[in-house]
Amino acid sequence: MDDRQFRQAMGKFATGVTVITTELEGDIHGMTANAFMSVSLEPKLVVISIGEKAKILNKIKESKIFTINILAADQQELSMIFAGQLKEHREVVFERLDGKPVLPGSVVQVACEVSAEHVEGDHILFIGKVTDIHLSDAEPLIFYSGKYRSLEKLETVTI
Ligand code: FAD
Repeated sequence: MDDRQFRQAMGKFATGVTVITTELEGDIHGMTANAFMSVSLEPKLVVISIGEKAKILNKIKESKIFTINILAADQQELSMIFAGQLKEHREVVFERLDGKPVLPGSVVQVACEVSAEHVEGDHILFIGKVTDIHLSDAEPLIFYSGKYRSLEKLETVTI
């Protein structure tokens, strides 16, 4: 099995798209991520997986806080901004949840404190203890097989 085949296979797991943010010494940093999962109900825990080369890594290690912003269908541009896919810098407006930076218009905003971290291969798993959540009714952005999608096309299917 080569890297390409592994990537291609894992990309067949349809996911939402999130932007992880953290704040260190007044500077907010964000990164697009789809490696996110709910872990535990009692206590309320989630996990994110960050590549060892990502700049956000040491910032989360130091700040010990992060937020997860589940992007809405109309926020593809934000996903591209925080994945470094746009050449020019864009100003992004943040709001606050439990004092932590979150993206307005997201489907869900989750504020976390780091409760544990685990090095696994070339990624670091951060377990987050959820300190607050905000939900909206917006439709989610979907990522599948390396492409952005929306749920709209699925709505024609009647069960
Ligand atoms: P940078 O490359 O410095 O930041 C990324 C971009 O965000 C830069 O262009 C920067 O200008 C911009 N940015 C950061 N903060 C701000 C701000 N405050 N205002 C405006 N712009 C800002 N990687 C993983 O490790 N784990 C994953 O689960 C994961 N999932 C992904 C899912 C998708 C759909 C995509 C497209 C990418 C995913 N990536 C994932 C890759 C990851 O998003 C990129 O490698 C990213 O560029 C790494 O970010 P960085 O922390 O190194 O920071």
